[in-house]
Amino acid sequence: MNSSLNAARRRWELDEARTDVVDVLVVGLGATGAGAALDAASRGLSVAAVDAHDLAFGTSRWSSKLIHGGLRYLASGQVGVAWESAVERDALLRFTAPHLVAAHPYLLPLTPAVPRAQAATLMAGYRLGDALRAAAGTPRRLLPGPSRLAAGRALALAPSLRADGLRGALLSWDGRVVDDARLVVALARTAAAHGARILTRCRALALAGDGARVRDELTGDEFDIRARAVINATGVWAGELTPSVALRPSRGTHLVLRPGALGALRAGLHVPIPGERARFALVLPQADGRVYAGLTDEPLDGPVPDVPEAPESDVAFLLEVVGTALDRPLSRADVAGAFAGLRPLIDTVDTADTAGTAETAGAGRTADLSRRHAVLRSPDGVVTVVGGKLTTYRRMAEDAVDAACPHARASRTARLPLVGAGPVRPDTPGRLARRYGSEAWALRDLMRRDPALAEPVALGITLAELVWSVRHEGALDAGDLLDRRTRIGLVPEDRAAALPAAEAALAYP
Ligand SMILES: Cc1cc2nc3c(=O)[nH]c(=O)nc-3n(C[C@H](O)[C@H](O)[C@H](O)COP(=O)(O)OP(=O)(O)OC[C@H]3O[C@@H](n4cnc5c(N)ncnc54)[C@H](O)[C@@H]3O)c2cc1C
Repeated sequence: MNSSLNAARRRWELDEARTDVVDVLVVGLGATGAGAALDAASRGLSVAAVDAHDLAFGTSRWSSKLIHGGLRYLASGQVGVAWESAVERDALLRFTAPHLVAAHPYLLPLTPAVPRAQAATLMAGYRLGDALRAAAGTPRRLLPGPSRLAAGRALALAPSLRADGLRGALLSWDGRVVDDARLVVALARTAAAHGARILTRCRALALAGDGARVRDELTGDEFDIRARAVINATGVWAGELTPSVALRPSRGTHLVLRPGALGALRAGLHVPIPGERARFALVLPQADGRVYAGLTDEPLDGPVPDVPEAPESDVAFLLEVVGTALDRPLSRADVAGAFAGLRPLIDTVDTADTAGTAETAGAGRTADLSRRHAVLRSPDGVVTVVGGKLTTYRRMAEDAVDAACPHARASRTARLPLVGAGPVRPDTPGRLARRYGSEAWALRDLMRRDPALAEPVALGITLAELVWSVRHEGALDAGDLLDRRTRIGLVPEDRAAALPAAEAALAYP
């Protein structure tokens, strides 16, 4: 079947979903839900998957975009979580999404804030992480090992580092996805290619073991989707549909710094957070020139918002921490935008059966809560998959489908290439190759047929990419185009400037 998602396909598949009984209904189309839809569809099961908003509307678009090998979990003794992360990182790098996921270098500057003994411990940790890499089967070619750099070399990679007192830096490598939202789109489209019905703007109002009451958010129409198994993959909102699932959301804020705010930065940075043992702020240069800096970890009290706000207190905290490693402090003027996401951390596992991994985290600080995932079956038979992280979405999806459909054949996704993972034509420009992989030629073809589509919109993104998103990536409105298919919308003035282009793409014949 074709992998293209668009308004016309949504319409006809919505009609079918009202009458058919599917093997699996997946609720939520973040990385976990889209992964579950793909896992189930590629096992030969019939699947409907709904999201109240858009693909990657929730936490999955607000991550740091690290596909991490789980080093920090080793540090806290969670060996199983670390191993799972290293294995899943390997699958993404080598088999499933080599066009979207690649190694990225990070520097930990050895400033006076990092005593020699701590530097030695950190290097030992990196070496352990490298051993995990090797054990998971990831070749050094794809993920180089750690090393120690002299100060001059560190400054060549990160010229904005404070040179005064710099003894050098620890260089480490980890995986990174070019854009978390693009990973979700690739998962959903690959699921669609295996026959899954991917239905955005469809809110589940109530779940049961044999289906859900759903509202089409575009028309207000309510109807039932009947299914033999139901998976709740609504992340931080899971408890709203399955009250036995208790979560302790934790807010993580990133700043979007203007291109050039940190000079010609060629590596990410790990900046020690003053007063914290082994916690670091991250500085993450993006391919489009912007630099993200994160990451806070604050418990959220009260109702879970659709789109969390990044408070000024988080912005000030991050500017201050990152500034400690730089030759000039960052100011509010360096901040072009900010975003926050909510980690769906598991609090307690109430009365539900645990079908996968879960633990009771009690009332600890959210930064200390487990990042393991849980698969929980509630008394009405709904299977909820929650917790975990972007890196391990595939394993979470596999565990959820195993629990929901115990008689299905085994998961096939560990080696299943996502849309775009095929060979890339040699003359493909790097930016298109990194975002579209083997589909990049089709984008170039669009531009050749209508040169007006080669018109740049923002950040090197062309009108052709927006038209492509409408035709093939399920974008239904300007928000889908600017906030999820591209990330132009992270900076409010860029978003406003690009709005007419998004409208033009939606109207393009
Ligand atoms: C700040 C931050 C940084 C992070 N960084 C990393 C990182 O670098 N690497 C990493 O591996 N992990 C990272 N994580 C963790 C990772 O992002 C999440 O664990 C993961 O994205 C969760 O995905 P999900 O699909 O479970 O949930 P979500 O992406 O939140 O998806 C849930 C979906 O359910 C939909 N939904 C909600 N209610 C309904 C309803 N009633 N009906 C239908 N649909 C509904 C929502 O619209 C949403 O699209 C980070 C998390 C945060 C917060």
